[in-house]
Amino acid sequence: MEAQENALTNFICRTCGTQYPSSARPPEHCPICEDERQYVGLNGQQWTTLAELRSERHNIIRSVEPGLTGIGTDPSFAIGQRALLVQTAQGNVLWDCITLIDEPTITMVNALGGISAIAISHPHYYSSMIEWSRAFNAPVYLHAADRKWVMRPDPAVLFWEGETQTLPGDLTLIRCGGHFAGGTVLHWPSGAEGRGVLLSGDIINVVQDRRYVSFMYSFPNLIPLSPNAVRRVVAAVEPYTYDRIYSAWWEKVTMTDAKHAVHCSAERYIAAITSST
Ligand SMILES: [Zn+2]
Ligand SMILES: [Zn+2]
Repeated sequence: MEAQENALTNFICRTCGTQYPSSARPPEHCPICEDERQYVGLNGQQWTTLAELRSERHNIIRSVEPGLTGIGTDPSFAIGQRALLVQTAQGNVLWDCITLIDEPTITMVNALGGISAIAISHPHYYSSMIEWSRAFNAPVYLHAADRKWVMRPDPAVLFWEGETQTLPGDLTLIRCGGHFAGGTVLHWPSGAEGRGVLLSGDIINVVQDRRYVSFMYSFPNLIPLSPNAVRRVVAAVEPYTYDRIYSAWWEKVTMTDAKHAVHCSAERYIAAITSST
């Protein structure tokens, strides 16, 4: 019996980084990758485990501005996003998540005050959220519209509904939709020296020219959103004050004038997909 239990593993998809419920053998499929917003890699469906990842890689933890710390894996794994730890006097919130979690990471995050809550923009970053939740005894806030994309269900997941959800530390989750029905960004009003920050995952995605952002149904497969879906994303964040946007990767940051960037980018995008010439 014990030997059997020891043989169970939480397999992880190598292409999207999603961890699955424990099983004796790898799952047949990864529904996240088989969805048209993702893809199965060139060599077919590949699986790994947390133990294997810990032997191959480590996490880099780096302050990005006062009160905000990035956590990313090196060498990059799966989609390659980095998570962000927002530190507030009412507790820390982990925004988005990454697959690799190990003892050095837990020690360093505890030294920064631990994690009171985890919130994730959309299913591509659910990664190994349950491992993070258990390590820090923190609930995971996910939008209920994306419930079916949770591959490892757990009582620690709190599904929120509607358009906004407040979190400790004056933070607000804003449902934008777009890339996923429950696509969410996080507003941090005291970020950027009090000018306000959006942590946006790739729901509002800072592009190579960091004066602009973009909005897509699928990034790897280049499937755009409709004009109305883009307008809904912009309208959802319009009531909030922000000057800076951190999207899902280390360098994808619009440092200043981000609200103007969102407006200009949406206009440019809608003009491009509705032009008849
Ligand atoms: Zn996958
Ligand atoms: Zn995505």
